Formats: sequence, structure tokens, C-alpha cells
Amino acid sequence: MLEKEVKSTCSYCGVGCGVVVKKDARNRIEVEGDKNHPVNKGMLCSKGMNLDYVVNDTSDRILYPEMRWSRSHPRERVSWDDAMERAAGVFKSIIRKHGPDSVGIYVSGQCLTEEYYIANKLTKGFLGTNNIDTNSRLCMSSAVVGYKKTFGEDSVPVSYEDIELADCFLIAGANPAWCHPILFRRLEKHKEENPDVKIIVADPRKTDSANFADLHLQLIPGTDVILYHAIGRQLIKRGYVDKNFVKKHTEGFKEYRDKVMSLSLNQSAKLCGVPAGDIKKAATIIGRSKGFISMWAMGLNQSAVGSDKNFSLLNLSLVTGHVGKPGSGPFSLTGQPNAMGGREVGGMANLLAVHKDLANEEHRKEVAQYWGVEEISAKPGYTATEMFDALEEGKLKAVWIICTNPVVSMPNARQAERALKNAKFVVVQDISHKSDTVSYADLVLPAAGWLEKEGTMTNSERRISYLNKEIHPPGEARPDVEILCDFAKKMGFRGFNYNSTEEIYKEYAAMTKGTKIDISYLNYDRLKNEGTFQWPVPEYRHPGTPRLFEDKQFYTPSKKAIFNVPESVENTSAKPNEEYPLILTTGRIRDQWHTMTRTGKVARLKTHYPDPILEMNLVDAYLNHIKDGDVTEIKSPNGTVRVRAKVSENVREGVVFLPMHWGKKLKNDLNRANNLTHTKVDPISKEPDFKYTAVSVSRFRKT
Ligand code: SF4
Repeated sequence: MLEKEVKSTCSYCGVGCGVVVKKDARNRIEVEGDKNHPVNKGMLCSKGMNLDYVVNDTSDRILYPEMRWSRSHPRERVSWDDAMERAAGVFKSIIRKHGPDSVGIYVSGQCLTEEYYIANKLTKGFLGTNNIDTNSRLCMSSAVVGYKKTFGEDSVPVSYEDIELADCFLIAGANPAWCHPILFRRLEKHKEENPDVKIIVADPRKTDSANFADLHLQLIPGTDVILYHAIGRQLIKRGYVDKNFVKKHTEGFKEYRDKVMSLSLNQSAKLCGVPAGDIKKAATIIGRSKGFISMWAMGLNQSAVGSDKNFSLLNLSLVTGHVGKPGSGPFSLTGQPNAMGGREVGGMANLLAVHKDLANEEHRKEVAQYWGVEEISAKPGYTATEMFDALEEGKLKAVWIICTNPVVSMPNARQAERALKNAKFVVVQDISHKSDTVSYADLVLPAAGWLEKEGTMTNSERRISYLNKEIHPPGEARPDVEILCDFAKKMGFRGFNYNSTEEIYKEYAAMTKGTKIDISYLNYDRLKNEGTFQWPVPEYRHPGTPRLFEDKQFYTPSKKAIFNVPESVENTSAKPNEEYPLILTTGRIRDQWHTMTRTGKVARLKTHYPDPILEMNLVDAYLNHIKDGDVTEIKSPNGTVRVRAKVSENVREGVVFLPMHWGKKLKNDLNRANNLTHTKVDPISKEPDFKYTAVSVSRFRKT
């Protein structure tokens, strides 16, 4: 099918690098960086460079639908028609007996925008429940809250091109050197060419990003709000406030000032474990800068106080007036390739398409009218962790899981297993048998993967790219939108008779007309012929919008940006105690992606970290009689993990780090970090706290 070079976008992280895809002499796919792409200019990281291997190796692919008639029978191959009949039959029967809120769909930031849109339309418009949520809830819902409450809408104001225009970066709770590598390469190059550029990293670990920085603020986990308030206090005390911007374009400064002044520099320094001199230094660097960009990821978002952490960081951009001008602004880095697209089409339990809110009656009416349905339920749907709680409690009877592996990625993974075992009916729609979650499915549906279907994605900087279908999916695998539309038709729903994915895109794009994310003038032809565009694209021939708020007109009712002032500065997850004296934080390693169903297939990506390890400080290792390389047993109230220790000074005393990638199929279930993590969530964003679990660590001795 593929006869010439075609362009596409990397399907891993939210950086959104452009790739060129071609076939070699042996008819195998080859992938290289697109030299003309505005994001990566030809560069690819280790994961992107091995995309071709993942596509060419189909040995793990799910090739045809599989179904089991009862839990005591193995699954067997069935036709697509039988699979869809069964799915519709079971969903109808459960809804009839228990109501629409007894079913739910759990999707992923790796779904394309059209897939996200259809899954939401199906659930909220036609199944009659708002029980649809996404694994993006686990990584960026706190950032959504931060942007919405500060600017009035979930709007990332900056672009990657602002990197080359800034002279100060605060990287907070992120390790882009490993997790957003091409973005970091741009930052490195910019600093190498401009030695005056300053980088500050706030992280409890000495990561590669921290090692490259001019200043590393190695804070105690969970004390981020205290640290950013302390920096805010210094900015105010030393006269670095942009008075004109604060007066004309913000609300709530007085409350903010009162709050940050309530704690002295020395008190803050003690609480967050960062020397007072370094806090002062950070404030001076930020205060003197002409262009200040904050970048953050999971260290801020994945917290029981994730929204407050976001507010406290966003406030630093407001106080210094660094919003809506070149080289300035708060920049949330998304982990997945289309977390942003999901946000645009309302792919969370509390959202509706085009940045509308489920809680708003007018918004529900508008969307219901657009879809031609009587109403959208006002009842909030289950968020990700709530969905698994409801499955375990028997309130949710059936769940349809698309393109994600919750048995490895959910906090308290053993609870996720119990929940799926307790469900009456589990559908798993995925590409790979390597997903642990497939084992729990009553019905497995083979989905088309990257290059095997068309659609669009949006990267971290609001850049929309079109992905063409370049190759046929193996076996009987089908694009996710086709599967969902077929199911909708079997359920007897109107409104799913699309002739192409482009028709779905057009329906969604028309819905954006006149909104802040207007792409009504952006069609597949422009995306195919002219390349990528940053929303909004509100007029014919409009080139897209790299930067928002240049007119300082924010999307709040007063058109002013809001200082949101966290009530409490304390992290609220259970603190370390005598039984569990250390704080566990989890995260990614350089060469692996999520639960390794794709990158785990590539031998050369395993050389960096062949096995999971526990990073531990020298002092903690000594106190617990552990040497580098020993097998350790890590325990929390939820479970146990056994992995080897890597002892160094890279994590601060009192903190241990585990990578989150490994699941049962790749090793054994004692390698799974989420055996340990708890399910406490941020009260606003409902994002879990993967960065703060009290654990004990001891040397493992076989008995
Ligand atoms: Fe892919 Fe992200 Fe690497 Fe770019 S930085 S090649 S988008 S994984």
C-alpha cells in the first residue's frame, strides 16, 4: 500500500515529533525524523527511532475478536458480527436491569481525536451516562483545573517556538530530558547557544534535567506549594512584580500576597527542604528574566493536592506578568500523544466537547441539540479511580476499555484486578496481547494501530496533525472508530452512519465554530497539504495561533486572569510513619513508554534499564542494611514489590523511586510499582497521588 514516503507523527509522547515513513527493499516500514517538521526538525528520541520495529513486529498483535461465554471457559475466536451482537446484547440487558449508569467506557490519551469524540458521543449522548473517563485523568487533569481556573478555559498559552525566545525556565516536577526528550534537546541547544539562559529544576530527584540545570531545588515530595509560595514571596519582596499587568489584567493578588507573606523564608525553606539561599536565587533569576517559561508534568499533577500545586506555579507567571508575550508563559507538558485532543472533545467524565462543562445546564442542552438527543444526563460520571471503585463495589457492571492497560497503570493495581474480576462484563479493545488487562476480558476486540488508521492528534502546544492510514492492520483488526460506530448501530442508535473518519472530524470541527478552540476552517485537505496547525484556526486561510492571550483578554467573565490561592500548603496523602518511614515516588525511565506493550518489544530499548530498580539514597540504604544491587522488598498498606536497589545520592534522603512501566506479563507481578500506590485523589481534578506513598524497604531474604 505504501509506495512513497509519507509523513506522520510519533505515537508516543505529547511532544508530537514529525516522522517520515517509507518502505525498505524488504517491504518493511522505516521511520526517520521529519527534517521539515516545526517540532523536531528531524530529531527523534530513542523511542521514536524504534517506532518501525514496533510496527514491523506483529507477533504480539490481537488478530481477531475473542469471546468467552462464561468465566469458566477460555475465550475463543468469533466473528466481528458475533462479537458486536454479544457486546450490544449484554450492554442492553445490563442497562435494562440496572440503568445506564451501570455501564462505562475507559479510554486513553493515545486514542485519536475522532475516536475520543465518538466514544464520548456514544456514552454521554446515547448510552445515557457520563461514565466515560480516560487514563489522561491519571496524568494531566490537575493541569486542566489549573488552566481553567486561572485563564477561564483549558488553554495552553505557549508554543515550542517560545523556548528559543525565553531566558529563564522553571522545570517543575518533570524530567523532560527523559520523558520529553526532543523538547529538552531544543532547550539544551538554546542554552548552549545562549549561555545567559538560566534553567531551574524543582525535583526531589537529581535527574538528567536537574543535572543540566543552573539551579536544582531538591524539595521534599509534596511541598511544592510551599516552595512556589516562597518564590512568590521573594518576587514580591524584591520588587519583581509586574504592577501594570497585575493591576489591569488579574484578580486576587491581595489574597495571594497575604498568603505567601504568611510564611517566612526560613519557615518555608525548612518545610520544603530547600536552602533559603536557593529560594532567593530562584526568585532573582525569575524576577530578572525577560522571558520566563514554567514547564511541568507529573510531579505537580499526580498529587492529592495537584490542583493547588498547579495554582501555586501558575501564580508565578501572573505575578511577573509573563503571560501572552514572546518567550513567556506556563507550559504543561502532556505525557501522551493526544491527551490534548481528548481534552478538546470533552474526553473526561466532567467535560463536554469544545471546552464545555457537564455541570453547566446550558452547555448540556447545546451539546444534546447538536447530537440530536433529548438530553445529556446531569449526573456526574465516574472518573478513572471512581470507575474502578464502582466496579469493585458492584455499582458498575460493565466496562469497555480502549487502548489502555489499567491493571498496570492504575494506582493500587490489585484493586484494579479485583474490580475487573468483579465486573459482569469486560470488553478490551487493544492492539496487543502484551497488555495485562486483556487477561480480564470477556470480549477482546482487535484494534488497528499507528499507521493502520487515519485521524488527528493534538500535541502539548495545541498543534493538530493528521495521521494517514498507510498500511493495512494485521488479521481482522479494525480502526477504533469503526468498532465503536458498529457497536452504536447494534445498540440501535442513530447518528453513527459515517462514511469515513473525515466525516467524524467535520462534525466535531463544525461544533467548534465561534468557540475559543475554533478549527471550523481547518479540514483534512489543509492538514494533509499544508502540515500541522495550532488551534484556534478561526478563519479561512488562517495560519493557526502559536500564542494565546497576546491581547491580555483572558477567558474568564472579567477577562482577567485569576490568582487562585490554595487554602492549605500541606500535602494530604498519608505521611510516612514508623511502619512505613519512606516516601515512594514513581515515574518513567528514558527508553520505555507506559506499560511497555510496545517499547517492551524492542531489545535495544531494554539495554538502558533491563529490569525495574528501586532508586534509594545512600543514607537510607545504610540504615536499612541494603547494598547497591541487593534485592529489596518494598511494602505499603496496599501490597509488595521486590526489585533490586540502585543506591546513590540521586534521590534525597527519605525518598525512594520506582519506575511505573513493568507489569505481570513482562516480569512478574512483584515488579509492578502500582502494587504499592494508594487511590487518594485531588479533590478537584480527581487525579491520583502517584508521587507520595508511605512505604518500608528492607533487604529481601528468601525463607
Ligand atoms: Fe516521539 Fe516524544 Fe520521542 Fe518525539 S520526544 S520522538 S514524540 S517519544
